[in-house]
Amino acid sequence: MNKNAKIFVTGHRGMVGSALVRRLKAGDYTNIITRSRQELDLLNQAAVHQFLADEQPDYIFIAAAKVGGIHANNIYRAEFLYQNLMIEANLIHGAHLAGIQRLMFLGSSCIYPRDCPQPIKEEYLLTGALECTNEPYAIAKIAGIKLCEAYNAQYGRQYISVMPTNLYGPNDNYDLENSHVLPALLRKAHEAKLRGDKELVVWGTGTPRREFLYVDDLADACVFFMEKDYTGSVLNIGTGQDVTIRELAETIMDEVGFTGRVVFDVGKPDGTMRKVLDVSLLHSCGWAAKTNLKQGIQKTYLDFSQLIEP
Ligand code: GDP
Repeated sequence: MNKNAKIFVTGHRGMVGSALVRRLKAGDYTNIITRSRQELDLLNQAAVHQFLADEQPDYIFIAAAKVGGIHANNIYRAEFLYQNLMIEANLIHGAHLAGIQRLMFLGSSCIYPRDCPQPIKEEYLLTGALECTNEPYAIAKIAGIKLCEAYNAQYGRQYISVMPTNLYGPNDNYDLENSHVLPALLRKAHEAKLRGDKELVVWGTGTPRREFLYVDDLADACVFFMEKDYTGSVLNIGTGQDVTIRELAETIMDEVGFTGRVVFDVGKPDGTMRKVLDVSLLHSCGWAAKTNLKQGIQKTYLDFSQLIEP
């Protein structure tokens, strides 16, 4: 990627998009373009196609998506399916129509079958049924991967799909109902500490295992693979290490300084019992995550504290 190349980062106000912009700026890229939802509605096909034809970016990162935690995915099934399909279809087809050769589509580790072997290899895609709670989101993301593959096969495009594991970091969503587990527990532990509560309520049984990647590491990997002119189809991006939800809660409590005890609300779903990516392909390409969970939680807590300070 030339330092003056025109790079369009979609979803730049979100956690992933903002990390990408930070990483690109730190890497001396000078021509980054972004558009707010008011300026460009990614659900509007005509507007997206016109924008790409006019702007002619050299590279596109598709970090825009309708995202959320287990509850939001499960409840807003229609919006998760429809909006993600539209965003990616408009951008990928629009990029092709505008003659844009390079694009990176960001998927998610939930595209893999619910009961596939762990750690999850890229080749397990479409080998079994999906986890029900996030099936609509996963179906949309699988369609995005297949769109990229189809334009590559039929038209020689270089549209890469990367599958990040569960992400966290600055600009995350801290909504208690709709966020992912890490930001939710960070906020719950912080508020429990302030209130002097004796208990922290964690959803499910605490036994599911999840892998967490600090978002700045993800952004670094995305830029690394764009710079490398990577041409593979699907690539896992993670740490390859997982923890139980109970362990995660305890690490967060330590960091926040909440000294009460954990209780489990088993009325809430566990989701997939284990989700950890096989990162052999990633490591064989020469990239590995740098931030461990404790360091990442520390940085995220700092960001959260600044966010809530008046
Ligand atoms: P998932 O990885 O798609 O299942 O999404 P989440 O990050 O939302 O949830 C991961 C796991 O954390 C699930 O087993 C949840 O039940 C559990 N969990 C525990 N407490 C919470 C919480 O406060 N919020 C969320 N979203 N999940 C929680």
